[in-house]
Amino acid sequence: MVINIVAPPLIENSAVQGAAHMMQSEMFALLSLKNHESFCDVLHLHPPCDLILFIAQTISDLTSGWIKEYVGHYDHACLFGLCGRAASIEVEYTLCNMNYIDFVILGEPEDTLLELVKNLHSHKAMNNHMQGINGLYYRYKGESFKTEKRVAHENLDDYPMPNYEHLKLGQKYFNVCSLEASRHCYGNCIFCGGNVYRHQNHGEITRAKSADRIYDEINYVVKEHNVRFFAFQDDNFFYDGNEGYRRAEKLADLLIGQKTRVRFSIQCRVSDISQDLFGYLKKAGLYKVFIGLESGSQDVLDRYNKGTTVNDNEKAINILGNEGLRCQHGYILFDPFTTKKELRETIDFFIPYKDKLFSFTEGFLETRYLELPTGCKAYEVFKHIHSSFSMVTPESFVAENYFLNTETIDIYNHFNKIIVKRPRKGSVFSDELSALEVAIEGK
Ligand code: SF4
Repeated sequence: MVINIVAPPLIENSAVQGAAHMMQSEMFALLSLKNHESFCDVLHLHPPCDLILFIAQTISDLTSGWIKEYVGHYDHACLFGLCGRAASIEVEYTLCNMNYIDFVILGEPEDTLLELVKNLHSHKAMNNHMQGINGLYYRYKGESFKTEKRVAHENLDDYPMPNYEHLKLGQKYFNVCSLEASRHCYGNCIFCGGNVYRHQNHGEITRAKSADRIYDEINYVVKEHNVRFFAFQDDNFFYDGNEGYRRAEKLADLLIGQKTRVRFSIQCRVSDISQDLFGYLKKAGLYKVFIGLESGSQDVLDRYNKGTTVNDNEKAINILGNEGLRCQHGYILFDPFTTKKELRETIDFFIPYKDKLFSFTEGFLETRYLELPTGCKAYEVFKHIHSSFSMVTPESFVAENYFLNTETIDIYNHFNKIIVKRPRKGSVFSDELSALEVAIEGK
């Protein structure tokens, strides 16, 4: 079988790309192990394929048109599939809007892909070859079918060493190796797509690679690719908020004990941050931490079920600052229920920190409204109030259909006009705070 696994086209920001590249590298290694001829190619330089699998981790990956363009330019008959977080969660969108896609893998793709490929290989006639393979949505003779949920793969250490294909593809943009160390987060935020995605598999969904295995992966990359910067893409590097801390210490022991120095970044919750642990991780090479602060308004944090306080946010920023660690913060300026008072509280909270927090600069524009993945609690709540509400894409977003509060609609539209027109030179975050302030004051 000839298989191509395609991640979204490279852009300048490695943080957005990392999760897709990591998944691509992991699947590529699995297929190679089974002697399938596979490619990780965004161009059309490969021989005709039997199957092309696209990865869509974010809603933009799914809706921005690159997959349609790719399929449109592809000259050979083959099966087209989708996998990844957004593809899996927003499967209804795919079925309605992407009629060129033959199947979507629901939940974790690795084991489902292997079984599918094996089936295709033995059923040359391609006759309803997906029936009975758990973890799929597929089309057959004009109808769509959903199979049973797949049981999550128990031991992540079983998987072969990823091939890190993204390092070759991405070198002209960045030289950071994306890694995966675990699959879980003990948080329960109501907007979290990660939680929805993880529940698309049966079985134990809290899994983590061992410290030894992660250490081996790091050293393999150093040796084979001469890359010493790593970005852990896990939703929460400390996964269960318990054993996760011990594993981090063990990994730090291993890294501190070796001659080769590496640097790495992680993502975690505000509630994970402590002076002792982070001081130790810094010695091991930690240089940047992504934490979802989300807001400077306690009402908003409570609405999201963050399980944190504004004081916790402040404490986390200060600990990271004291340790000399870069703090990249996740923040949500607008959700359907946002009020002017909450926006004011958020500005007041962030202003003293705006130059200390890591933010992207030129060439990167994110949406600042909360995306509501289908099936998350926030989506259900909002759908209940706003019966015509459906998945919001960057292309379909209209403030009037999203916000409940008319004052917020005006603020958002004003804010957006300023942001879109303003040349992007400095920190995106500072820029947004000042635009928001102007929008609130109605100047
Ligand atoms: S902390 Fe992040 S990953 Fe964990 S539940 Fe909340 S949003 Fe999801």
